[in-house]
Amino acid sequence: MSTAIGSVRRVGTEETFGIPELLDAWRGLSRSVWASQDLELVRSSGMSYHGQRLMDGLLELGEGRLAKMDEVGLDFAILSLCSPGVQLFDPETASDMAELANDRLAEQVRAHPDRFGGLAVFAPHSKRGVGEIERAMTDLGLNGLIVNSHTDGHYFDEPQFWDHLEAAEALGAPIYIHPRTLPDAIGGPFSVYHLSRAAWGYAVETATHAFRLIVSGVLDRFPKLQIVLGHMGEGIPFWLYRIDYWNGKHQGNTAPKLEMKASEYFKRNFTITISGVYQRSSLDLSLTELGDERIMFATDYPYQPMSEAVNFMDAQTHLSRETLERIMFRNAERVFKLDRGD
Ligand code: MN
Repeated sequence: MSTAIGSVRRVGTEETFGIPELLDAWRGLSRSVWASQDLELVRSSGMSYHGQRLMDGLLELGEGRLAKMDEVGLDFAILSLCSPGVQLFDPETASDMAELANDRLAEQVRAHPDRFGGLAVFAPHSKRGVGEIERAMTDLGLNGLIVNSHTDGHYFDEPQFWDHLEAAEALGAPIYIHPRTLPDAIGGPFSVYHLSRAAWGYAVETATHAFRLIVSGVLDRFPKLQIVLGHMGEGIPFWLYRIDYWNGKHQGNTAPKLEMKASEYFKRNFTITISGVYQRSSLDLSLTELGDERIMFATDYPYQPMSEAVNFMDAQTHLSRETLERIMFRNAERVFKLDRGD
Protein backbone atom coordinates (compact mmCIF):
# COMPACT_ATOMS: atom_id res chain seq x y z
CA MET A 1 0.00 0.00 0.00
CA SER A 2 1.56 3.25 -0.99
CA THR A 3 0.87 6.59 0.58
CA ALA A 4 0.17 9.82 -1.26
CA ILE A 5 3.49 11.05 -0.03
CA GLY A 6 3.72 14.15 -2.15
CA SER A 7 1.04 15.86 -0.11
CA VAL A 8 2.65 15.33 3.29
CA ARG A 9 4.11 18.48 4.80
CA ARG A 10 7.87 18.31 5.33
CA VAL A 11 9.44 20.02 8.35
CA GLY A 12 13.21 19.70 8.68
CA THR A 13 14.51 19.85 12.24
CA GLU A 14 18.29 19.83 11.75
CA GLU A 15 18.90 22.51 9.13
CA THR A 16 22.17 24.27 9.69
CA PHE A 17 23.46 27.78 9.05
CA GLY A 18 26.52 29.87 9.85
CA ILE A 19 27.24 33.56 10.20
CA PRO A 20 30.42 35.15 8.78
CA GLU A 21 31.54 36.43 12.20
CA LEU A 22 31.48 32.90 13.64
CA LEU A 23 33.38 31.36 10.73
CA ASP A 24 35.94 34.18 10.90
CA ALA A 25 36.42 33.66 14.63
CA TRP A 26 36.94 29.92 14.07
CA ARG A 27 39.53 30.69 11.38
CA GLY A 28 41.31 32.83 13.97
CA LEU A 29 41.37 29.94 16.44
CA SER A 30 42.47 27.52 13.74
CA ARG A 31 45.69 29.50 13.27
CA SER A 32 46.64 28.62 16.86
CA VAL A 33 48.48 25.45 17.85
CA TRP A 34 45.40 24.12 19.66
CA ALA A 35 45.00 20.50 18.58
CA SER A 36 41.21 20.49 18.95
CA GLN A 37 39.80 18.09 16.39
CA ASP A 38 36.83 20.46 16.05
CA LEU A 39 39.18 22.84 14.26
CA GLU A 40 40.22 20.31 11.60
CA LEU A 41 37.20 21.16 9.49
CA VAL A 42 38.00 24.87 9.60
CA ARG A 43 41.69 24.25 8.92
CA SER A 44 40.85 22.26 5.81
CA SER A 45 37.80 24.19 4.64
CA GLY A 46 39.61 26.84 2.62
CA MET A 47 41.69 24.22 0.87
CA SER A 48 39.11 21.98 -0.73
CA TYR A 49 36.22 22.41 -3.10
CA HIS A 50 34.00 20.42 -0.75
CA GLY A 51 35.01 22.57 2.22
CA GLN A 52 34.29 25.80 0.39
CA ARG A 53 30.92 24.53 -0.83
CA LEU A 54 30.04 23.60 2.73
CA MET A 55 30.91 27.08 4.00
CA ASP A 56 28.89 28.65 1.17
CA GLY A 57 25.92 26.42 2.04
CA LEU A 58 26.10 27.37 5.70
CA LEU A 59 26.05 31.08 4.92
CA GLU A 60 23.17 30.89 2.44
CA LEU A 61 19.95 32.00 4.13
CA GLY A 62 16.96 34.01 2.94
CA GLU A 63 15.85 33.53 -0.68
CA GLY A 64 18.83 31.32 -1.56
CA ARG A 65 18.04 28.83 1.20
CA LEU A 66 14.33 28.96 0.39
CA ALA A 67 15.08 28.12 -3.26
CA LYS A 68 17.08 25.06 -2.14
CA MET A 69 14.14 24.01 0.04
CA ASP A 70 11.69 24.52 -2.82
CA GLU A 71 13.77 22.26 -5.10
CA VAL A 72 13.09 19.27 -2.84
CA GLY A 73 9.75 20.31 -1.38
CA LEU A 74 10.94 21.12 2.14
CA ASP A 75 8.11 23.26 3.52
CA PHE A 76 9.69 24.44 6.75
CA ALA A 77 13.20 24.44 8.23
CA ILE A 78 14.10 24.74 11.88
CA LEU A 79 17.47 26.46 11.54
CA SER A 80 20.34 26.04 13.95
CA LEU A 81 23.89 27.39 14.13
CA CYS A 82 26.62 25.06 12.86
CA SER A 83 28.65 22.90 15.25
CA PRO A 84 30.58 23.48 17.48
CA GLY A 85 28.73 26.78 17.67
CA VAL A 86 30.01 29.16 20.33
CA GLN A 87 31.50 26.49 22.57
CA LEU A 88 35.14 26.81 21.44
CA PHE A 89 35.34 30.36 22.80
CA ASP A 90 35.96 31.75 26.27
CA PRO A 91 32.71 32.43 28.19
CA GLU A 92 32.45 36.15 27.36
CA THR A 93 33.26 35.75 23.65
CA ALA A 94 30.87 32.79 23.49
CA SER A 95 28.10 34.85 25.10
CA ASP A 96 28.61 37.76 22.68
CA MET A 97 28.65 35.42 19.70
CA ALA A 98 25.51 33.61 20.89
CA GLU A 99 23.60 36.87 21.13
CA LEU A 100 24.73 37.92 17.66
CA ALA A 101 23.88 34.54 16.10
CA ASN A 102 20.47 34.41 17.78
CA ASP A 103 19.66 37.94 16.60
CA ARG A 104 20.55 36.95 13.02
CA LEU A 105 18.47 33.79 13.31
CA ALA A 106 15.49 35.71 14.68
CA GLU A 107 15.74 38.11 11.70
CA GLN A 108 15.41 35.15 9.32
CA VAL A 109 12.44 33.76 11.22
CA ARG A 110 10.72 37.15 11.34
CA ALA A 111 11.24 37.65 7.59
CA HIS A 112 9.89 34.18 6.70
CA PRO A 113 7.72 32.98 9.59
CA ASP A 114 5.91 30.47 7.38
CA ARG A 115 9.21 28.83 6.27
CA PHE A 116 11.75 29.16 9.10
CA GLY A 117 11.87 28.38 12.78
CA GLY A 118 15.01 28.46 14.87
CA LEU A 119 16.96 26.92 17.73
CA ALA A 120 19.04 29.31 19.83
CA VAL A 121 22.62 28.86 20.96
CA PHE A 122 23.89 29.89 24.36
CA ALA A 123 27.12 29.73 26.35
CA PRO A 124 26.86 26.72 28.67
CA HIS A 125 30.01 27.84 30.50
CA SER A 126 28.65 31.28 31.39
CA LYS A 127 25.81 32.42 33.61
CA ARG A 128 25.03 34.84 30.76
CA GLY A 129 23.89 31.70 28.94
CA VAL A 130 20.91 31.45 31.28
CA GLY A 131 19.82 34.98 30.40
CA GLU A 132 20.28 34.23 26.71
CA ILE A 133 18.07 31.14 26.97
CA GLU A 134 15.36 33.35 28.45
CA ARG A 135 15.82 36.12 25.87
CA ALA A 136 15.83 33.68 22.94
CA MET A 137 12.66 31.90 24.05
CA THR A 138 10.70 34.99 25.08
CA ASP A 139 11.88 38.18 23.32
CA LEU A 140 13.10 36.45 20.15
CA GLY A 141 10.33 33.81 20.12
CA LEU A 142 12.65 30.99 18.99
CA ASN A 143 11.58 27.36 19.16
CA GLY A 144 14.18 25.73 21.37
CA LEU A 145 17.90 25.45 22.00
CA ILE A 146 20.86 23.68 20.47
CA VAL A 147 24.10 22.72 22.14
CA ASN A 148 27.05 20.91 20.58
CA SER A 149 27.64 18.24 23.20
CA HIS A 150 30.45 18.83 25.70
CA THR A 151 31.83 22.23 26.69
CA ASP A 152 35.53 22.11 27.63
CA GLY A 153 35.05 18.39 28.35
CA HIS A 154 32.08 18.92 30.66
CA TYR A 155 28.54 17.57 30.31
CA PHE A 156 25.08 18.75 31.29
CA ASP A 157 24.70 16.31 34.19
CA GLU A 158 27.29 18.41 36.05
CA PRO A 159 25.87 20.95 38.55
CA GLN A 160 27.45 24.02 36.91
CA PHE A 161 24.93 23.58 34.08
CA TRP A 162 21.80 23.06 36.19
CA ASP A 163 20.74 26.72 36.05
CA HIS A 164 20.69 26.39 32.25
CA LEU A 165 18.69 23.16 32.42
CA GLU A 166 16.29 24.67 34.92
CA ALA A 167 15.66 27.65 32.62
CA ALA A 168 15.13 25.37 29.61
CA GLU A 169 12.68 23.20 31.55
CA ALA A 170 10.77 26.19 32.95
CA LEU A 171 10.45 27.77 29.50
CA GLY A 172 9.48 24.49 27.81
CA ALA A 173 12.53 24.82 25.57
CA PRO A 174 13.72 21.51 24.09
CA ILE A 175 17.51 21.16 23.87
CA TYR A 176 18.87 19.61 20.69
CA ILE A 177 22.17 17.97 21.64
CA HIS A 178 24.12 18.03 18.39
CA PRO A 179 27.52 16.34 17.94
CA ARG A 180 31.00 17.77 18.09
CA THR A 181 34.28 15.91 18.39
CA LEU A 182 35.30 14.28 21.66
CA PRO A 183 37.14 16.32 24.30
CA ASP A 184 40.83 16.87 23.61
CA ALA A 185 41.76 14.78 26.66
CA ILE A 186 40.18 11.59 25.26
CA GLY A 187 40.35 12.34 21.55
CA GLY A 188 43.68 10.59 20.93
CA PRO A 189 42.35 7.25 19.66
CA PHE A 190 39.94 9.17 17.43
CA SER A 191 42.66 11.26 15.78
CA VAL A 192 43.31 8.83 12.92
CA TYR A 193 41.27 7.82 9.86
CA HIS A 194 38.93 10.82 10.34
CA LEU A 195 37.38 8.81 13.20
CA SER A 196 36.55 11.86 15.29
CA ARG A 197 33.83 13.16 13.01
CA ALA A 198 30.53 12.03 11.52
CA ALA A 199 31.53 8.49 10.55
CA TRP A 200 31.95 7.46 14.20
CA GLY A 201 33.24 9.88 16.84
CA TYR A 202 30.23 12.19 16.77
CA ALA A 203 27.89 9.38 17.75
CA VAL A 204 30.21 8.16 20.52
CA GLU A 205 30.47 11.67 21.96
CA THR A 206 26.81 12.62 21.70
CA ALA A 207 25.41 9.29 22.88
CA THR A 208 27.75 9.53 25.86
CA HIS A 209 26.30 12.94 26.70
CA ALA A 210 22.75 11.60 26.49
CA PHE A 211 23.63 8.53 28.52
CA ARG A 212 25.16 10.70 31.26
CA LEU A 213 21.95 12.76 31.45
CA ILE A 214 19.95 9.57 31.95
CA VAL A 215 22.09 7.62 34.42
CA SER A 216 23.18 10.62 36.52
CA GLY A 217 19.65 11.16 37.81
CA VAL A 218 19.53 14.71 36.44
CA LEU A 219 16.27 13.87 34.67
CA ASP A 220 14.71 13.06 38.06
CA ARG A 221 15.67 16.63 39.03
CA PHE A 222 14.32 18.07 35.75
CA PRO A 223 11.62 15.57 34.75
CA LYS A 224 10.00 17.80 32.13
CA LEU A 225 13.22 18.62 30.29
CA GLN A 226 13.01 17.57 26.64
CA ILE A 227 16.14 16.54 24.75
CA VAL A 228 16.42 16.02 20.99
CA LEU A 229 19.08 13.81 19.44
CA GLY A 230 19.84 13.71 15.74
CA HIS A 231 21.30 10.89 13.65
CA MET A 232 18.62 8.38 14.67
CA GLY A 233 19.23 8.96 18.35
CA GLU A 234 23.01 8.50 17.93
CA GLY A 235 22.50 4.73 18.07
CA ILE A 236 20.89 4.63 21.52
CA PRO A 237 17.62 2.95 20.36
CA PHE A 238 19.75 -0.08 19.38
CA TRP A 239 21.27 -0.35 22.89
CA LEU A 240 18.25 0.02 25.20
CA TYR A 241 18.15 -3.59 26.39
CA ARG A 242 21.84 -3.68 27.29
CA ILE A 243 21.70 -0.23 28.89
CA ASP A 244 18.80 -1.32 31.12
CA TYR A 245 20.40 -4.66 31.96
CA TRP A 246 23.71 -3.25 33.15
CA ASN A 247 22.62 0.13 34.47
CA GLY A 248 19.97 -1.78 36.43
CA LYS A 249 22.76 -3.61 38.24
CA HIS A 250 24.78 -0.42 38.72
CA GLN A 251 21.92 1.68 40.12
CA GLY A 252 22.24 2.14 43.85
CA ASN A 253 25.78 0.71 43.74
CA THR A 254 28.23 2.36 41.37
CA ALA A 255 25.64 4.65 39.77
CA PRO A 256 22.79 6.72 41.26
CA LYS A 257 19.50 5.02 42.06
CA LEU A 258 16.90 6.33 39.61
CA GLU A 259 13.13 6.55 39.76
CA MET A 260 12.79 4.58 36.51
CA LYS A 261 14.68 2.28 34.18
CA ALA A 262 17.18 4.05 31.90
CA SER A 263 15.14 3.24 28.79
CA GLU A 264 12.06 4.84 30.32
CA TYR A 265 13.86 8.20 30.51
CA PHE A 266 14.83 7.82 26.89
CA LYS A 267 11.17 7.33 25.98
CA ARG A 268 9.94 10.17 28.22
CA ASN A 269 12.57 12.89 27.81
CA PHE A 270 14.03 12.32 24.34
CA THR A 271 12.89 12.75 20.75
CA ILE A 272 15.17 11.70 17.92
CA THR A 273 15.57 12.87 14.33
CA ILE A 274 16.55 10.90 11.24
CA SER A 275 19.27 13.37 10.18
CA GLY A 276 21.98 11.64 8.16
CA VAL A 277 20.75 8.07 8.85
CA TYR A 278 18.85 6.92 5.80
CA GLN A 279 18.69 3.23 6.63
CA ARG A 280 15.25 1.61 6.79
CA SER A 281 16.19 -0.98 9.42
CA SER A 282 17.36 1.80 11.77
CA LEU A 283 14.12 3.73 11.30
CA ASP A 284 12.02 0.61 11.85
CA LEU A 285 13.99 -0.33 14.97
CA SER A 286 13.53 3.18 16.35
CA LEU A 287 9.81 3.07 15.63
CA THR A 288 9.56 -0.30 17.42
CA GLU A 289 11.40 0.99 20.49
CA LEU A 290 10.10 4.57 20.75
CA GLY A 291 6.80 4.61 18.87
CA ASP A 292 5.96 7.14 16.17
CA GLU A 293 5.63 10.24 18.37
CA ARG A 294 9.35 10.44 19.19
CA ILE A 295 10.92 10.54 15.70
CA MET A 296 11.23 13.65 13.51
CA PHE A 297 12.31 14.40 9.97
CA ALA A 298 15.61 16.26 9.37
CA THR A 299 17.97 16.67 6.43
CA ASP A 300 21.34 17.57 8.01
CA TYR A 301 21.80 20.16 5.23
CA PRO A 302 24.33 21.38 4.12
CA TYR A 303 26.49 18.53 5.43
CA GLN A 304 24.35 16.17 3.37
CA PRO A 305 22.00 17.08 0.50
CA MET A 306 18.38 17.75 1.45
CA SER A 307 17.32 15.37 -1.32
CA GLU A 308 18.79 12.33 0.46
CA ALA A 309 16.47 12.75 3.44
CA VAL A 310 13.47 13.54 1.28
CA ASN A 311 14.05 10.58 -1.05
CA PHE A 312 14.58 8.23 1.89
CA MET A 313 11.29 9.13 3.52
CA ASP A 314 9.46 9.06 0.18
CA ALA A 315 10.58 5.42 -0.11
CA GLN A 316 9.11 4.40 3.28
CA THR A 317 5.80 3.32 1.75
CA HIS A 318 5.28 0.67 4.45
CA LEU A 319 4.46 3.35 7.01
CA SER A 320 0.85 4.28 7.73
CA ARG A 321 -0.27 7.76 6.77
CA GLU A 322 -0.62 8.60 10.46
CA THR A 323 2.94 7.52 11.31
CA LEU A 324 4.36 9.29 8.27
CA GLU A 325 2.64 12.56 9.19
CA ARG A 326 3.95 12.36 12.74
CA ILE A 327 7.53 11.86 11.56
CA MET A 328 7.35 14.43 8.78
CA PHE A 329 5.78 17.33 10.69
CA ARG A 330 3.36 16.66 13.55
CA ASN A 331 5.99 15.70 16.12
CA ALA A 332 8.11 18.73 15.22
CA GLU A 333 5.09 21.01 15.56
CA ARG A 334 4.48 19.64 19.07
CA VAL A 335 8.10 19.45 20.30
CA PHE A 336 9.11 22.87 18.95
CA LYS A 337 5.71 24.55 19.49
CA LEU A 338 5.59 25.70 15.88
CA ASP A 339 2.04 26.92 16.30
CA ARG A 340 2.92 29.43 19.02
CA GLY A 341 1.79 32.18 16.66
CA ASP A 342 4.42 34.78 17.38
MN1 MN B 1 24.20 16.76 11.92
